Amino acid sequence: MLNIGCHLSASKGFLSMGKEAVSIEANTFQFFTRNPRGFQAKPLDLDDVNAFLLYIKDKNFAPIVAHAPYTLNGCSADPKIRHLATQTMLDDIQRMEYLPNNYYNFHPGSHVRQGVETGITYIVKMLNTILTPEQTTTVLLETMAGKGSEIGRNFRELQTIMENVTLNHKLGICLDTCHVWDGGYDIVGNLENVLEEFDKIIGIHKLCAVHLNDSKNICGSHKDRHETIGNGHIGLDALVRIINHPSLCHLPFELETPNDLNGYAQEIRLLRSLYTQS
Ligand code: FE
Ligand code: FE
Ligand code: ZN
Repeated sequence: MLNIGCHLSASKGFLSMGKEAVSIEANTFQFFTRNPRGFQAKPLDLDDVNAFLLYIKDKNFAPIVAHAPYTLNGCSADPKIRHLATQTMLDDIQRMEYLPNNYYNFHPGSHVRQGVETGITYIVKMLNTILTPEQTTTVLLETMAGKGSEIGRNFRELQTIMENVTLNHKLGICLDTCHVWDGGYDIVGNLENVLEEFDKIIGIHKLCAVHLNDSKNICGSHKDRHETIGNGHIGLDALVRIINHPSLCHLPFELETPNDLNGYAQEIRLLRSLYTQS
């Protein structure tokens, strides 16, 4: 069974997201832990969390993906911003422990003229402060398109972070198809080589989730503009090869395409109909 869902608004709570997902034949979803462009978060409603966990119990759900706010930057030159990033991620992960064994995805950060090496040092330091041996949440580093000074624009940068984090068995990777394509990985013409490179540098077993997006731009553009499935430069055929690839087909796929709920429902229906794995 294809594990697929989409980004949903968290404003009405977990049970509401669960029902919304089921209504569009999704069996996973992604949501922002708090205001994506700020840091404010509502207190966690444990009744809602437990009602959600009960609701999805018999519905074959794959892990769900919490997404950190975009504004979180653990490698800012400003120590106050780094501190805020650490506190925010710590609080997010503590909340996620009420929904055990799921994923928490974040953008590694932007080094803004400090250089990749300095940026990576800060990200490693943040993760070493936050991760605990007891946590059940796996923290995912997202592959980035490499716009501006984004860290995570290639597999090597992500691996350098991972190999320097002490509890790196608590880390994984979320591969965003639009981002890697914009970052210069030809997943259309050469998916096999890209996955081989991923395996050689990071290890394919570290790949935990996929953001399934088409791209408005060409390979290597470093732009990061998502397109609806089949209407961009990646195209439907390549995306269908991705969901069916033996190394990927069991992962949760999250759509982050520019869509309303009805658009997501149509993409999920289409992709389910083109899934040929058991
Ligand atoms: Fe993201
Ligand atoms: Fe993404
Ligand atoms: Zn993106």
